[in-house]
Amino acid sequence: MTSKKPKQPKPQSIRITRDAFDFIAHAARNTDPDEFVGMLRQNRRGIIDTILIIPLSEYGSGFSSINLNMVPALSDSCGSIHSHPGAPPLPSQADRLFFSRMGGVHLIIASPYDDRSIRGYDDAGAPLGVEIV
Ligand SMILES: [Zn+2]
Repeated sequence: MTSKKPKQPKPQSIRITRDAFDFIAHAARNTDPDEFVGMLRQNRRGIIDTILIIPLSEYGSGFSSINLNMVPALSDSCGSIHSHPGAPPLPSQADRLFFSRMGGVHLIIASPYDDRSIRGYDDAGAPLGVEIV
């Protein structure tokens, strides 16, 4: 046995404006039972305030994908959002792979698409808090 503790990352939250959250919830409801997917952009204060809809994204049942060739400027986006209709807001294996390739922060929202059904993750798939501000 070792007493060495794993390094604790400092607690972090993803902050998102109420307007941006409402947009996500509305889009996810409208796309249900298919998945909604988009990219996130933050303002100068580090708060996500814009959802980018990427042309030629595929919204499927149980999957969705972003066509990365259509993302105008990846450096300008800080992560992604997608929905999980009928499943908990937990990252799948494919989600984790996508998060690690994209970097940044990622949101998953599940039905019923409200304040309590959204979860945040870092690029390694570790949970982050979500604050709607
Ligand atoms: Zn997913």
